[in-house]
Amino acid sequence: MEKTTETVHGLSYPWGQRADPVHGEPIKVADGVYWVRFAMPMALDHINLWLLRDGDGWTVVDTCLAIPSAREQWEDLFEGFLDGEPVTRVICTHMHPDHVGLAGWLCERFGCELWMSRAEYLMCRYLVGDTGREAPEAALRFYRAAGFTEKQLQDYVKRFGRFGMAVDAMPDGYRRIRGGDTIRIDDRYWQVIPGSGHSPEHCALYCPALKLLIAGDQVLPRITPNVSVFPTEPNGDNLRDWLLSSAQIREVVPDDVLVLPAHEAPFYGLHVRLTQIIEGHERDLDRLWEHLAEPRRAVDCFGPLFRREIDDNSIQLAIGETLAHLNCLMGRRLVQRERDADGVDWYRQKTDIFEDEAWNT
Ligand SMILES: [Zn+2]
Repeated sequence: MEKTTETVHGLSYPWGQRADPVHGEPIKVADGVYWVRFAMPMALDHINLWLLRDGDGWTVVDTCLAIPSAREQWEDLFEGFLDGEPVTRVICTHMHPDHVGLAGWLCERFGCELWMSRAEYLMCRYLVGDTGREAPEAALRFYRAAGFTEKQLQDYVKRFGRFGMAVDAMPDGYRRIRGGDTIRIDDRYWQVIPGSGHSPEHCALYCPALKLLIAGDQVLPRITPNVSVFPTEPNGDNLRDWLLSSAQIREVVPDDVLVLPAHEAPFYGLHVRLTQIIEGHERDLDRLWEHLAEPRRAVDCFGPLFRREIDDNSIQLAIGETLAHLNCLMGRRLVQRERDADGVDWYRQKTDIFEDEAWNT
């Protein structure tokens, strides 16, 4: 694919903003580092995976979904580009199925280890374990409290436990990585850059010598990564984690890296993008707070947060993001929540924070 730099909204894309490489054909991004795009049958129709030369074999970063078309793409790579050379290590940036789906399959096939952070590995095993189970009562209470209708609750019950459907059996053991670690791959050092909010203990990889950041889903150029609250941790303040870790990455990773995101195209402009992401959420929080001059349920709060109409198909994702923003405002003591007799939560501005007893004790 030809290189034609395109600059849009302060980011510059060496292969263009809408670069769409031939699926399964690796593109060299730096010495020993290749970008390969796999197709996915969803609205987000692709994922970028990274192949890193590692001695006589290859380290792969992220794996795509456990679906037949992705296995075929891997088979083509094994015979074609990798030319019989083995995969020596699988690193997963985080636990979402498009990233870990084929990790177990790859590790099994090549007898290599899965490298992943502890929280991501454990959370993944836990969610895979839920596959096929019935939706728990606590989850129904959670969505009822958010204001779901009976029909929306039924949709949730139908969809529950699908996480593991596109995830191959995970390896029973793994190699833990964590923020601050340095991994040697071939003759290069890669630093593990932690992130949180989109998933519990996301790991991006930064190579100072090559000026590259394999960003996973922590920094994407156009879409804003989903930051949601789920029934397992109803009061989680994931948005706080997200804002803090985004600011932290802006502090520790220099601005001159080529960002290699898991979706969309590689780009320069890490600090601008992180600032856009942080300020975007801060604006959303401001609008949401204004909206809460009147008491409202979570389902009444889509207007200030989403530009598009939320229907029954998108409500599941939308409610998670909305609750993340509401919990963040509560964490900042700007909003209060009360549960009514029907088990539904109502949020409203806390106008005088000093009325809060915790401030007076
Ligand atoms: Zn993800």
